[in-house]
Amino acid sequence: MLHIGCHLSISKGFLHIGKEASSIDADTFQFFTRNPQGGQAKDIDPADVQKYNAYAAEHKFAKIVAHAPYTLNPCSDKPETREFAEMVFADDLKRMEFVPNNYYNFHPGSHVGQGVETGIGMITDLLNRILKPEQTTTVLLETMSGKGSEVGSTFEELAEIIAGVKLSDKMGVCLDTCHVFAAGYDIVNNLDGVLCYFDEVIGLNRLKAVHLNDSLMPFASHKDRHAKIGEGCIGKKALVDFVNHPAIRSLPIILETPNDLAGYATEIKMMRNA
Ligand code: FE
Ligand code: FE
Ligand code: ZN
Repeated sequence: MLHIGCHLSISKGFLHIGKEASSIDADTFQFFTRNPQGGQAKDIDPADVQKYNAYAAEHKFAKIVAHAPYTLNPCSDKPETREFAEMVFADDLKRMEFVPNNYYNFHPGSHVGQGVETGIGMITDLLNRILKPEQTTTVLLETMSGKGSEVGSTFEELAEIIAGVKLSDKMGVCLDTCHVFAAGYDIVNNLDGVLCYFDEVIGLNRLKAVHLNDSLMPFASHKDRHAKIGEGCIGKKALVDFVNHPAIRSLPIILETPNDLAGYATEIKMMRNA
């Protein structure tokens, strides 16, 4: 059975989001740790989290994925932006321990003209300062489409970041199907080849979660526009084949398609019944 869910709002708390996930036959979900544009996180309610942890265990939820705000850029050229990224990242990791043993996904960042190598250095420096041996959360680098000066649109860049992290057992990768397709990895015509190359460069043992999205933009466009399943350039068949691949089918799969709750329910059903 697939472990599949979608992005949901945490604004009403963890127990609410858990029940909402169950209501659409999801057994995992993703949420923003705070406003996606950054800003203050809501205080964690220990009673709510305790109820959620019991609920998730009872309903056999797979690991869940927290998503860092989009404004978090560890390789900005502005020191204050890098400091903000570090503050948010460290605070989010502390809060993640309320729901232990799950995933924290972030966009590696945009080097804004400083060059990929400088960017990667800043990203690994930040990770080396804030990862803790005792943390139970695995931090995931999201595969990016390569728009603008984004770091992390090639498997080599992701591997280089992981190699630079001392506590690399805390690191993994979240593969976004829209992003890798837009970055030029042909999961439509050469899925085995792409996953084999991922294994060679990064190691499939690092692949921890999936963002399942169709792509409005064509192959290798380096543009990041999600489409509903079957309404983009990847297509339903390729996405069904993707989730059922032996290297993928046991991972938590998160839909980030442009949908309301009913739309997500339809896509979850579609993938479970395919
Ligand atoms: Fe993302
Ligand atoms: Fe994504
Ligand atoms: Zn995206």
